[in-house]
Amino acid sequence: MSERPKFDPLRAPVACVKGVGKSFADGLARLGIFRAFDLLFFFPRDYEEIFLKRTVDELVEGEVQSVVGTIEDYGTRRTRVGLLTTLFLAVGTSRVKAIWFKVDYMTRNFRVGRRLMLTGSPRKKDGLWEFHHPSLNYFDDPSSPEEQNNPETVDLELDDLRVAPIYRLTDGITSYRMRLFIKNALVHLPDLIPEALPKELIEKRDLAPIADAIRKIHFPKTLDEAQYARKRFVYQELLVLQLALAICRTRRRVNMKALVLPRSAKIDSRIRSLFPFELTESQINAIREISEDLGKSTPMNRLLQGDVGSGKTVVAIYAALQAVANGAQAVLMAPTEVLARQHLRTLQNYLRNSSVKIVPLFGGQKASERAQILEEIRDGSAQIIVGTQALVCNEIEFNRLGLVVIDEQHKFGVKQRATLKSSPDLEPHYLVMTATPIPRSLTMTLFGDLDVSVMRSLPPGRRKTTTSVLTPENRASWWQFVRDRLNEGRQAYVITARVDDGSGSDEQFIWEGRELNKLENDGTFSSDFDFWNNWAGPEKERDLNRTLRRDSDAPSDDQEKNTDENVSKLKTVWSVYKELSEGELKGYRLGLVHGRMTASEKEEIMLDFRSGAIQVLIATSVVEVGVDVPNATIMTIENAERFGLAQLHQLRGRVSRGKHPGFCAVAPTEFETETPVANEPADAPRRKKRKNAKSKNENESEEARAENKRRAESLARLEFFAQTTDGFELAEKDFSLRGPGELFGARQHGAASFRIADLTRDRAILDDACEDARALVGADPGLADPEHQALRRQVLVKYGRELDLGDVG
Ligand code: ADP
Ligand code: MG
Repeated sequence: MSERPKFDPLRAPVACVKGVGKSFADGLARLGIFRAFDLLFFFPRDYEEIFLKRTVDELVEGEVQSVVGTIEDYGTRRTRVGLLTTLFLAVGTSRVKAIWFKVDYMTRNFRVGRRLMLTGSPRKKDGLWEFHHPSLNYFDDPSSPEEQNNPETVDLELDDLRVAPIYRLTDGITSYRMRLFIKNALVHLPDLIPEALPKELIEKRDLAPIADAIRKIHFPKTLDEAQYARKRFVYQELLVLQLALAICRTRRRVNMKALVLPRSAKIDSRIRSLFPFELTESQINAIREISEDLGKSTPMNRLLQGDVGSGKTVVAIYAALQAVANGAQAVLMAPTEVLARQHLRTLQNYLRNSSVKIVPLFGGQKASERAQILEEIRDGSAQIIVGTQALVCNEIEFNRLGLVVIDEQHKFGVKQRATLKSSPDLEPHYLVMTATPIPRSLTMTLFGDLDVSVMRSLPPGRRKTTTSVLTPENRASWWQFVRDRLNEGRQAYVITARVDDGSGSDEQFIWEGRELNKLENDGTFSSDFDFWNNWAGPEKERDLNRTLRRDSDAPSDDQEKNTDENVSKLKTVWSVYKELSEGELKGYRLGLVHGRMTASEKEEIMLDFRSGAIQVLIATSVVEVGVDVPNATIMTIENAERFGLAQLHQLRGRVSRGKHPGFCAVAPTEFETETPVANEPADAPRRKKRKNAKSKNENESEEARAENKRRAESLARLEFFAQTTDGFELAEKDFSLRGPGELFGARQHGAASFRIADLTRDRAILDDACEDARALVGADPGLADPEHQALRRQVLVKYGRELDLGDVG
């Protein structure tokens, strides 16, 4: 007798769940639901609170209430004031009436006999209760009205359903269906899931046990209950990440060895003598922390955060020279070639009278040149290696690699850091630097395995950039001011959000330039950073979900936010160039740089700008990162609301780098309030049509109000920016307003790395999870305890490859 494999109902194909069957399995698969347990973890994206559900007799005037009933009759007719839609709903033995003015989109879902719920504030007229523009909630499936008699249908219309879950949907899976499937799955399955969290944590943090949490997150009795269930999953998700980071951290401390590169008084004074200025307090502190780390046999992993212009390069050079003084090699990496070449120049300048050998390693080098450099790195004659990430590749063999410095780290994650090796059994020390001030909760998430140094003060004499918001009224005087400064010999930037009228912004080219695109393709970039950079933030994600939603029951409440019209008002580098060269800046020497140029094209323009041959550089945010041209003191940022605050701060940082005061003007996009049809451009017919379609919509005024609100908000944000000079304060604000995605200035794509956690909202839970993870790993570094097995498995599944945790335990 052969033994049959044990049937695991959790892992069974989703088609086995009651009600799903073959016919709906495909639809669910499109939502990523393949097995029974996927249904359990397909959490609602939102909830709808069902207000007081009443019988007709219980209704009172002027309160939001709901009634459930069956459609008896409906119709739409044209009246003097526009369309009038009427619906009669049988509720128990009575009936109520619902009416809508000027909209009829919802009638497509009406069918006599359908069961639905109306929610609104009714009025009694001629003995009949009337709901004006109530919201609708269907309790049956439009595709099969005969289902009314199906016991399953009744099953869902629970009398005690007070909070209805709202799910992401797809063609063929209505919200009724989804609720039904999940309801059915909830009957037995949750009790089969093993609890992954240790009992003491559940108690300590007051979390819902797994089965309870799953039931309550889908069908809570109250929104508070949903919140309570959600907290458990948020905690678990963050705990798993924090465990992974804690393991990395511990393992490095315990197992990995690095070259010991101490500093002596002699080394210190020799290095300091190279700099033409006194180090700032912040620089001295950061250098002390780094120097101490370098002197240990545990590899350093330190993040240096310093506001724009705080002088991080000097700190990096100091660290590199400390390594060189100990006979080791140092690598200095930058995200773009423009920036890498700038570092090369700075280094060569400081070290012009020394014998330290610096070699550049860039993308476009000739094969013979590159071969020669690689040889010098191998035989150890190259002491400092400067380049872009292109130099992170396996063919590089170091002689005695002691330190790797990564400047302007935004994109490269833990894995990236782990790529360079000193030798099979030695790790280099790592120093990563960023000018994007990162709120602490994010630092913990993104760099939880790093130590952090913060530089808050700027070099002396550095004046803060004076910032103002440009309005149509003060534009002319601003450009006069710009001309005055240019005439005094200063230089200026003008920043735009877009390269051209084509699709996409320049954003995706900002960090990488072409050389990085290549890297990205060979997989070396898959890291936690990609998640962060690619995540548009919770707000955006919600929008995305809404667009994904194909709910035949849902009214078209998600009209596109006239994106096309807005985009067409964005200035491009080309339009600004044309406008300025023929207008306000006629006769001045203008140049143009954007992310779609090749590295050498960009470098050529930057050289001309540096030398003064170009007075005004019109650019996309490619200049954001680290570019240092002290004579450039004025910046105009067009369509400024398109940028995150941290990004604006980065940009502004470009013009306060020298002895002259810096000035920045942020110009919000000038939206016309009402587009006059007469001077519509060539695509007028299309637009006009859309306008008409919209004006049929009752929501028009609501939309206009929402649009005005958005504009007022972005204006307020720009005002806040103009008044705030502290990068950390801006970062916190940005983070709380717009989520982590914005902070990193990237808004394409939609993938979120967290299924449920939202760092803007869940910071307190993150703190708890971090504390617990460290304690747990401290007590049980390999998560070997039987009670930790489930967590260990989750850590490995989610982060094992990314963080190279293969040998945990
Ligand atoms: P960031 O931190 O933004 O990378 P940089 O390292 O590019 O800043 O430094 C900004 C400018 O400040 C550079 O021109 C640099 O020469 C100058 N600088 C750095 N440290 C000092 C200092 N201690 N005193 C005066 N100027 C300094
Ligand atoms: Mg810098």
